[in-house]
Amino acid sequence: MDLAELFTALNAEELEPNSDLAVLREVLESLTSRKNFDTRIMKRFGELTGKAHQHRRLKPSTAEVEFELVGLTGSDRQISEFALQVEDILVTVDLSRVKKCEGDGCEALFIDESKNKSRRWCDMAHCGALRKSKVYYDRHRRVNSGDEVKPKLGAKKQ
Ligand SMILES: [Zn+2]
Repeated sequence: MDLAELFTALNAEELEPNSDLAVLREVLESLTSRKNFDTRIMKRFGELTGKAHQHRRLKPSTAEVEFELVGLTGSDRQISEFALQVEDILVTVDLSRVKKCEGDGCEALFIDESKNKSRRWCDMAHCGALRKSKVYYDRHRRVNSGDEVKPKLGAKKQ
């Protein structure tokens, strides 16, 4: 399952509120916050996956089990593919591996595929490095303040 495209889309900064993509993102985001699924989101997600399943067929003439979407084009097809991928994640992935980046101000979602589930950042070279330099900076600046470095709350509403 190649999920790179899905996560690039879900992590886009200009994600339109209430759009189909935003719904898919919220489904995965609920996992990271261990919240119950919102009923409105569940309903929208059900509609998206329902539509996708209506268009899903077994690919003919291959030895392996492969599916394809028929009768959908453009953004309809894209969102249906994404909906099926999110559904796949819910069913097949260890859900504690679905995470949100701990980088300051970063809201990126990702699947932690590390051996010991220790990944904390969407991108070690970016958010990981920023975080490291910030921890270093804070440590040397506020030696005795017991303040924890808290992640910023995102602007997006749940
Ligand atoms: Zn990040």
